[in-house]
Amino acid sequence: MLGVPFDAGTTYQPGARFAPYHVRRVSALIQGWHPGLGVDVFRALRAVDGGNVVFPPFDRAAMRDAVQGEVGAVAAAGAVPVLIGGDHSVALPALRAVAAVHDPVAVIHVDAHLDTSGAEVWGDDHHHGTPIRHAITEGLIAPGQLHQIGLRGPWGGPDDGRLAAGHGGLRLGADDVAARGAAAVAAAIRGAIGDRPAYLTFDVDAIDPAYAPGTGTPVPGGLTSREALALIRGLAGIRLVGVDVVEIAPALDHADLTCHLGAHLLFEAMAVIARSR
Ligand code: MN
Ligand code: MN
Repeated sequence: MLGVPFDAGTTYQPGARFAPYHVRRVSALIQGWHPGLGVDVFRALRAVDGGNVVFPPFDRAAMRDAVQGEVGAVAAAGAVPVLIGGDHSVALPALRAVAAVHDPVAVIHVDAHLDTSGAEVWGDDHHHGTPIRHAITEGLIAPGQLHQIGLRGPWGGPDDGRLAAGHGGLRLGADDVAARGAAAVAAAIRGAIGDRPAYLTFDVDAIDPAYAPGTGTPVPGGLTSREALALIRGLAGIRLVGVDVVEIAPALDHADLTCHLGAHLLFEAMAVIARSR
């Protein structure tokens, strides 16, 4: 587990740089046994908190270099990097590192947003709305294996979704998750991925602001916390080779709701990893 205390890629309210500290703080309430999956996560896994990745908090290029280096070292050692962001721009160097070890991977991208923006939006090629576009164009995602869950906009126009749709994979909005059920959506993802190595990148704004208010770019109409947890739990059986949970902004949170949820999302992902071993 690595913290990435970085929010210089946010386009609206910052604050995600403090998530590693606060998610760790409330993670004291997590215990090891997962009753749903029947696994003792911290007996099955040798989990190590490697602290935070270190870089100047205002330097986006330095963040990318540092994260790629640290995540690459974890992945090359045969371990599974699990990241606490940070804004979503931390996912690009993590994906670069994981794809360098495992070849292009399946990506499960849970988010309200597509994150395929270009430089035209803010005049800069790297912010928290761009990691999936870079991952596609750099060939980090296996063909047909970009699975985006929780999407709901806002979009600037009908073509916003074209790049992601062209890559292939599942694209399901929050309404689809509500209609089909999180377990069925997870089963569809498992079926599409099979035994490929998979990277889970989880933007907490996929979840409704009613359940996850502590985030910088909230979008109403999202997943419930129960759906989000069930979605990850339902992935048991796939081979996760990397995980991040991003965009938690503790200063915008209430009663640590989003921080607690973040800790539990990470625990669910670690239980999936534990089951695969
Ligand atoms: Mn995002
Ligand atoms: Mn988002």
